[in-house]
Amino acid sequence: MRQPLVILDNVWKVYRLGYTRVYAVRGVSLELYKSEFTAIVGPSGSGKSTLLHLIGGLDKPTRGRIVVDGMEISSFDERELAEYRRRYVGFVFQQFYLIPRLTALENVEIAMMARGVPQSERRRRALKLLEMVGLKDRAYHRPGELSGGEQQRVAIARALANNPKLLLADEPTGNLDSATAHSIMKLFRRLVDEQGVTIIMVTHNLELVSYCDRVIKLRDGVVVGDERVSKS
Ligand code: ADP
Repeated sequence: MRQPLVILDNVWKVYRLGYTRVYAVRGVSLELYKSEFTAIVGPSGSGKSTLLHLIGGLDKPTRGRIVVDGMEISSFDERELAEYRRRYVGFVFQQFYLIPRLTALENVEIAMMARGVPQSERRRRALKLLEMVGLKDRAYHRPGELSGGEQQRVAIARALANNPKLLLADEPTGNLDSATAHSIMKLFRRLVDEQGVTIIMVTHNLELVSYCDRVIKLRDGVVVGDERVSKS
């Protein structure tokens, strides 16, 4: 039996807005596995980002249990969650959040600084990561000299810098044209198949789910579909 890497057990997230309550996630239970590429889809406001934030330790559930790699992160305090994010999770967002004054290489390297990786090792690993995302020859370019797709590749290399157990991507192709979006999906697929990376991606673009192993559909904070993607 494969052990799930992520377990969600009756997870709820309720936001209070003045006197009203927004039920963003309502009793979600799921098990996600290592080296799989999972898409979370659903209409806007269905709770996709909230769910991803809960798995990534950016937010805490109102109720329920979240276990990642055997650790019950739903019981973590803020300090433990910060440590969890740093050691276990890589994030990729719709905006690339690169530092404009730094080169692609430096943008990847700084992710390793907080962990005290020596400079020569940082450089070596950052170059290897840029090569892995197909950007070795752009290592010394600044973000402004790169296309959107290239910038997102740098952001992906940065997210992988500390060897995360989970790569969480929130609408990673939202700012990219269709051809570039497909090339990012091919990169994700390759990272899963060749490097054993585990990816959970939120998207409303159903065209992209063919690259995934599994598609979880949310509606009004509830899982309304959970299917394996057949590979032709
Ligand atoms: P999706 O990613 O599917 O668009 P979200 O997870 O962003 O959905 O949001 C789910 C619901 O929770 C929405 O109704 C949204 O307005 C609400 N919501 C999300 N974040 C907050 C917040 N910080 N405070 C209050 N309501 C929120």
